Amino acid sequence: MQRGTFQLMKTVNRSLILNKIRIAAPISRAGIAKETGLTPPTVSIIVKELIEQGLVEESKLGSSSGGRKPTMLHIRTDELFVIGVDAGPGTIDCILTNLTGEMLGVVSYPLSVHTNSEFLHQVIQAIQQLLDRHSMQTEQIIGIGVAMHGVVDAKTGVSLVAPLLGLHNIPIKQELENRFSIPVKVDNDARAMALGESWFGGYDMQDSMVAVNIGRGIGAGIIIGGKLFHGAAGLAGELGHMSIDPNGEKCACGNRGCLQTLASGPSIARRARTASGEAVYHAAKAGDEEAKIILEKTGQILGIGLVNLIHLLNPDRIILGGGVMESAAFLLPPLKEEIASRALTVEAAQTEIMVSRHGNRATALGAVALQLVDLFAPV
Ligand SMILES: [Zn+2]
Repeated sequence: MQRGTFQLMKTVNRSLILNKIRIAAPISRAGIAKETGLTPPTVSIIVKELIEQGLVEESKLGSSSGGRKPTMLHIRTDELFVIGVDAGPGTIDCILTNLTGEMLGVVSYPLSVHTNSEFLHQVIQAIQQLLDRHSMQTEQIIGIGVAMHGVVDAKTGVSLVAPLLGLHNIPIKQELENRFSIPVKVDNDARAMALGESWFGGYDMQDSMVAVNIGRGIGAGIIIGGKLFHGAAGLAGELGHMSIDPNGEKCACGNRGCLQTLASGPSIARRARTASGEAVYHAAKAGDEEAKIILEKTGQILGIGLVNLIHLLNPDRIILGGGVMESAAFLLPPLKEEIASRALTVEAAQTEIMVSRHGNRATALGAVALQLVDLFAPV
């Protein structure tokens, strides 16, 4: 066997074992061998390496049907950490998690920037604050994930277009790596959120799913076969710019009647003539009929957008997140009705529609997942 092939197999086996421990912990070496189909010596050698690298540790003794109790393994949670950044447009949220995605700390403040260097400065400040607050050395951080709205070149880690901040070509990866000497990955916010939902949601990783982020803008992250789909030029999932009304309002992108002009937070606020989508939610909750009608109409429009998505991709499930989903109680019933009445088949009508369980941290957790995927399941 060629050495290259051997190395590749070892990498594949390593991620297979690491992922098995992540999902099935506490699990014994024998249990891993049985469930992965790898031989017990292969499992032993790789587990030894994982323990030496500080990724895995032995825990309390497991139960056994007679004889010696097996030593159980789990992912180590006190040695290495990850930083996830949800970088705007309105606020910057920076979270610290362990390797299982458990949130240990957060730094959050409003983002107000006019230039690329101001933006980078604020992101660096937030990360530094998080490190200082938890007395973390950079060697303890395996990576930083950054989720950014707009068009992102995930390979180079450059934010190509950030329309809601009015910025272009921000070299996020390069600048953060220079500053912290920690590996950095950058991706679109909805895409990061989708990965986070697939990683931390407890679903089958092979599922196909779409996560839709509905806030100041609307974007979708598409997971096919457990992997993020970027498209030919990183544009996949720009659901917010799907045309719904050819004669509708002009969108920031220059087209008319995009989904974003009809169902984003600012569009809800505009129709209700209030300051924010949040204000409309509170009014509806307090019984304001006009506010309720505006949210119901928004739910219908979102339903039309999602039915188009279902017909195009036929995902197992769609997960909705972002600030606008705070109004889920008002949006979901008309949204589901719209899907039920427009879907082509019974199966399409039954596509699972859920609201993210991670609330306003869904995107930052997704940014963490950008790094964990590399550690647990490199390709
Ligand atoms: Zn548009």
